[in-house]
Amino acid sequence: MADNKLRFAPSPTGDLHIGNARTLILNYVYSKSILGDLILRIDDTDQDRSEEKYYRSIIKDIEWLKISPSAIERQSSKTEKYTEIRDYLIKEGHLYPCYETDEELNRLRKVSLSSGLPPIYDRASLKLTKDEIKDYEANGIKPYWRFKLDRKNITWNDLIRGEQSIACDSFSDPVLIRADGTFLYTLPSVVDDIDMGITHVLRGEDHVSNTATQIQLFKILGSNIPNFGHHSLMVQKDGSRMSKRIGSMSLKDIRDRGIEPMTLINYCARIGTSDAIEAFQSIDELVNDYSLTKISRSPARFSFDELIGLNKKIIQNISFQTLDSRLAELGIDGNDAEMFWDVVKTNINTVNEAQKWWNLITNDKININDGEINRDFLKIAQESLPNIPWDNKTWSIWTEKISQKTGLKGRELFLPLRIALTGENSGPELATFILLLGRELVLKRLSILE
Ligand code: GLU
Repeated sequence: MADNKLRFAPSPTGDLHIGNARTLILNYVYSKSILGDLILRIDDTDQDRSEEKYYRSIIKDIEWLKISPSAIERQSSKTEKYTEIRDYLIKEGHLYPCYETDEELNRLRKVSLSSGLPPIYDRASLKLTKDEIKDYEANGIKPYWRFKLDRKNITWNDLIRGEQSIACDSFSDPVLIRADGTFLYTLPSVVDDIDMGITHVLRGEDHVSNTATQIQLFKILGSNIPNFGHHSLMVQKDGSRMSKRIGSMSLKDIRDRGIEPMTLINYCARIGTSDAIEAFQSIDELVNDYSLTKISRSPARFSFDELIGLNKKIIQNISFQTLDSRLAELGIDGNDAEMFWDVVKTNINTVNEAQKWWNLITNDKININDGEINRDFLKIAQESLPNIPWDNKTWSIWTEKISQKTGLKGRELFLPLRIALTGENSGPELATFILLLGRELVLKRLSILE
């Protein structure tokens, strides 16, 4: 068992999205860099919103990223433990019952604001007499429970943000337990972090103010306080908030769009840091020299185009052997498959795009716009085509001959050939591609306008 322990703690109330992926990946890379364990903790105390299908999709996403947590914990199986701690906190006077309705609280908030005061809960329920409480109970009204904050400053040295100080008199005593007895996130999180011996908590900066409350709870429960690190959130490339469309881009969407796991890991580990995003092939290269202090306080700007650009670099270095079965699933197999992959990989953004090029060498027909090619040119190209056997000099011998007959050179010579053979303006190296097409198919393509 490692001394350092981290946890990634998603709620199974939806699919993991790109923002969650960043939190996961930062935890993963950092855990590796300090030789720590990474635990997957499923925060499923909200019974109404948690769903089994989301739990399954989280597991699938994590497997896809090839991240293997050292343990998987589900909060829904730990209610007994939380209840025990709840009773202790009530007994010690750290939790107090409240009965105000939402409407009453809203009204109080408005009154405070209109008299220029911060809208902080006035602890009125703390002053209820035993009889008043009995009255509520007699009327079947169940309390929810607030944590009585120690109204002082809480400070910690954030692994990402540096010195932090939160004034605990600047917000209301947080509700930790709902009237139906279920636990909100704050308390179970602390109980589990203590139970699991978590040493480092890395999460989004939307949790900074929770941290003050949680530090108080860690102290009350007699525990060491983990190291906290809060990373900035993601925004769109132009700085605007993540739109519904991008913000909700799930890992599943990202996977379906052909992004490789290593692309996402490289991207999320370095986005919003002072390091350039690189196309490392292995996690070890990323872990080397990893430092959380390089993460900027400003929001990380997400761009799908950048992700695709990185994917392009990543797939150029994936060997055929690694991809073998995935290519076979796309129908790319047989003797030519390896040669095909080697020539096509530098021209595609995603592995799936290879299929389009494979179709070109396996199907007779391609779509060409008649106006794009000159009939006489094709005739000359046909007549100049070398006989078999072909090898890697065939292309230069052929194009040299056409050049002599037409006087064409460079792009003027190669583009019409490329269009005739592939129907595209750009694409894989033709010297190899014609070997994959074979003489018969090349001839067929050249006679396309006949
Ligand atoms: N379930 C919480 C969330 O998804 C976990 C926060 C934490 O890491 O403490 O925001």
